[in-house]
Parts: sequence; structure tokens; C-alpha cells
Amino acid sequence: MSDNTHDAIIVGAGVCGIYMLYRLLNLGLKVKVLEAADGPGGTWHWNRYPGARFDSESYTYGYSFSKELLEEWDWSEHFAAQPETLRYLNYVVDKFSLRDHMEFDTRIKSAQFDEASNQWLITSDTGEQYRSTYFCTAIGMLSAATLPRIQGTSDFLGESYHTYYWPKEPVDLENKRVAVIGTGATGVQVIGAIAEQVKQLTVFQRRPNWCAPLHNAPISEGEMQKIKSSYDEIFAKCQSTASGFIHSHDTRSVKEVPTEEKHAFWNKLYNSPGFGVWVGNFKDVLVDPEANAEYSDFIANKIRERVKDPITAEKLIPKDHGFGTRRVPLETRYYEAYNLDHVRLVDITENPIECIEAKGVKTAQELMEFDVIIYATGFDAITGAFDRIDITGVDGIKLADKWKDGPITCFGVQVAGFPNMFMLAGPQGASVASNFPPAIEAAVDWAADFMEQLYKEGVDRVEADADAESEWQEYVKSFYETSLLAGTQSWFTGYNSNVEGHDKLRHMIYLGGAPAYRRILSEAADNGYPQFKTR
Ligand code: NAP
Repeated sequence: MSDNTHDAIIVGAGVCGIYMLYRLLNLGLKVKVLEAADGPGGTWHWNRYPGARFDSESYTYGYSFSKELLEEWDWSEHFAAQPETLRYLNYVVDKFSLRDHMEFDTRIKSAQFDEASNQWLITSDTGEQYRSTYFCTAIGMLSAATLPRIQGTSDFLGESYHTYYWPKEPVDLENKRVAVIGTGATGVQVIGAIAEQVKQLTVFQRRPNWCAPLHNAPISEGEMQKIKSSYDEIFAKCQSTASGFIHSHDTRSVKEVPTEEKHAFWNKLYNSPGFGVWVGNFKDVLVDPEANAEYSDFIANKIRERVKDPITAEKLIPKDHGFGTRRVPLETRYYEAYNLDHVRLVDITENPIECIEAKGVKTAQELMEFDVIIYATGFDAITGAFDRIDITGVDGIKLADKWKDGPITCFGVQVAGFPNMFMLAGPQGASVASNFPPAIEAAVDWAADFMEQLYKEGVDRVEADADAESEWQEYVKSFYETSLLAGTQSWFTGYNSNVEGHDKLRHMIYLGGAPAYRRILSEAADNGYPQFKTR
């Protein structure tokens, strides 16, 4: 095997790529990770914006595969901030001697399946070529950042940053006039983190999101010891919930619980750390529109209590979707930021942005001058990172063409016509809609086990069966008929106003829950992978 020929090339050195590399090296395969950044970490390498931290409990975000690692690593906070997570991932990479198998500053431009050799020919943007039997994508769901389609973004003479590309060097925001465009999970974290330090903060909001308090806190030494001794139970709990978090839903329905008891329960959720407020709720809150409306009213009143100016409060309360039907941003003093005299909320549905100019943002009503503009405008989510690589399967078929109207996959791990390509956290899998690391560990284990079997059997070509793929499409779509999530426009449902053509529902994710997804994958394995053709 020449130096640039491998059994597997993994693209991406984030949470997913790191674990896949670990697994495949342990199988004795020749593997390389190609990574665009100058170090490992993926999401946690890039997103260095102020306030970036987990919404997952730290101790459910770490890998579970090594008891030694679990014993060695201490988390400092219940919801760790980005620098700590990046340190953790680097620690894992070094502990398991993975760094030498990673090539950084290497962005993949194209990947083409060569039918004669049953290998992928992978080319970087500098023209470097690699060959491998398996082409494993660990390229992130939220790694293709999108700027708003607003005229003049390059005319601005102050500093401007998309949150994803936040610089490594500290950005001094003190005494600056700062604009934040976007109020998703990222914008909400940024706003909460910087509101008190800047001279003036203007938030440009298109649609408000339902946010709830994170309630972060430090983890004491004693607590960490307790967490370490309970890891088995913690991970077992995560495995048992649809969301992969430690929060399980209440089996009662909203209607059957008396109001006083219901409100006490909701207050408890609102005052507790993490995503319980979203996924630890009554069973029908995300399914029954009436139950959802009642809970949304409850949360709306919380916002009214926290935001002093009633007009601002009303602007911050979503009217076009119910609580939890888009990804819920967890926040720290987000709503209180709007009580500061130097913080202003601009509702751009009333006062639209016309363009960005040299000095600031020109809206329909005024020109607002800024020193810094922060774009918290999100991502061409889930499929964007795939679209940015020219991927060609058999008979010259392009993945971007096949996915023109939305992703089409078998189990979210393979695509018919693209043999030997394994998507480790791809569209229509369970990772997106659940706590990411537990979900990817399951997906990586499944793919690695499958590849081990193929390797042992001397099979060098495996491809999803087209009929199995069609069945998976119908199955994925069926969940969209019952979930309230499907009725809202967000990256979960494939919308992005900044990407041409992403203005209609696309079936991006498997909504059946992590345990059911794992069952489907293991049944396939137990039955000899009938959904896949080998030769
Ligand atoms: P996002 O949820 O897609 O939010 C993007 C925001 O930008 C939205 O408020 C959107 O408004 C606004 N926007 C986009 N284009 C615009 C335009 N042209 N003009 C005005 N506003 C515009 O992206 P995100 O906040 O980066 O979050 C993405 C995901 O990353 C999250 O859902 C979450 O899964 C993950 N994340 C996780 C954490 C964590 O774990 N703590 C933190 C941050 C992010 P509309 O709503 O009107 O489209």
C-alpha cells in the first residue's frame, strides 16, 4: 500500500472522527483523518465565540468507551465552556496516540468512487490525492456556516465575525458598539455573555426562539467523585431516553394533570439545569398542539416576568411556533440583557435590514453605527458540509444532485450509488436530534463492526440497496406526520433563508428517538445487514 493509500480515510477530527479513528486503528486498519482545521476538535475547535458552551451535561458529553478516560477526566462545570471541551478532545487524542494519524490544514475538495479498484479517490484543495477503500464522513452537522444574504457585508469597515469563525486571539468588545444578527442557540449565548461588557448592544431579531435557563454551576471535587462512581447509571439513563440526555419525559399527559400540580412541575423544570424543560416534560407537549400551547403560555409568562419592558417582552415571545418545536436555546441571563439601558432589540420584521454599509447597519428606518458586527446566523445544516465537497459515486452520479431536494439515505449511514461511503453522523440518523456523543458512539460502533466483518470476509465493496433506501425514506418521513417539530421552519426541517432553494421541508433527521434507532441498526447487524449489497 502506498503512503497515500489507506483502508479508510475519515474526513473530520471532531467528536465523531476522533472516535472512529480510535475504533478503526484498534481493528488494525491503515487509517488517516483529514481535517481542515489546524487541530482536532471540530465544532469545539471552531466555535470560540463568547459564551460558547454545552447545553448537554458535561458528564454525558464525554466519551463512554474508556473507563480509564472517565476516571481521569474532571469536568469543572455542569455545562462546560468551549475551551474546556477543546482541551478534553485534545486530551483524548493524545491519550490514545491518535494525533499522528491526523493530517491538519487539509480541506477536502472532492471524493470520487473508482469502480475499477473499488476505492475512493479523495483530493484536497491543494491537489493532494489519497486513496482508500472506505470514505468515512465525520464532517459535522453544523460546520458549513452561512452569512446572511444581506447586501454590503464586505463594505463594513469595523470588525465583523461569524460566530463559527471566531478568532483564536481574544476579541476586545469592551467599550464597543456591537451588533448581533441572529437569535438562535448561538446568538442567545453570545448576547448573554457580552451584554454587560460592551458599550452598546443592538440585537437584530428576525424570529424569536423559546429559550430557557441553563442553570450552569461549577462541579465540586466531591460532586465529580460522585459522578465518576455513577457513570454506569448516567450512561444507562442516556441510552434509555429518546433524546440521549439524562432527562426522561413524564409519562402523564398535560390534560390529565391538575393545573396547580402541572405548574409546580413546570416551575421545577424551569428552575432545574439543562434540557429537562424541553425533553423532560409531559409526554404530549411536543405532539399535541393544545398541550404545547398551554406549556408555551406558561413559558411566555416567564419571559414577561424577566423582561421589564412589556413591548420588548412581547417581541421576544415566539408567536409563529410553540415551545420546543425548534431547538431550544438554553441561556444564562439572556432575557435580563434586555433590561440593560444600553441593549436594544430590533425586530427586523418591523424594521428590516436594507444593507450593511461602511459604518454599520442600514435599516428601513435608520443607519445604526457599529464597531463590531457579530453574525450568529447559523449553518447550511446537516447536508451543507456534504454539498461543499464534490462527491461522485458510480456512473458519475453526484451526491449533490441526488440530494437536490433533500437527503436520501439508508439508515443515515449509506447512500445507494455511493459504495463504501460511511456517514458517521449523517442526515436521517439519530445523532442530530439527540445528545451528540452517545449517539455517535453508537453509530461509529455499528459502522466499525460492519467494516470489521467486511474486512474479515475479504469484501471490498458494500453499498446500500436502493429498495432499502426507499423504505428508509418512507419511514423517516412518517415521523414528520406526527411531530410538531415538522411543522416549523428551522435547520431541523431543512430551512435556511441564506441558501438558495432551502425554502421547503426536507427530511433531514430521524425523529424516532435514539433507542429505536439503535435497535434498528443492531437488528440489521444481527440479520446479516440485508439492507446492504456486498461484492
Ligand atoms: P440557528 O439556530 O440557525 O440560528 C440562526 C439565527 O440567525 C436565527 O435567529 C435566524 O433567524 C437568524 N438569521 C439567519 N439568517 C438571517 C438573516 N438573513 N437575517 C436576519 N437573521 C437571520 O443557528 P445557531 O444559533 O448557530 O444554532 C445552530 C445550532 O447549533 C443550534 O440549534 C444547536 O443545535 C447548535 N448549538 C449548540 C449550542 C450548545 O450546545 N450549547 C450552542 C450554540 C449552537 P430565523 O429564526 O428567523 O431563521
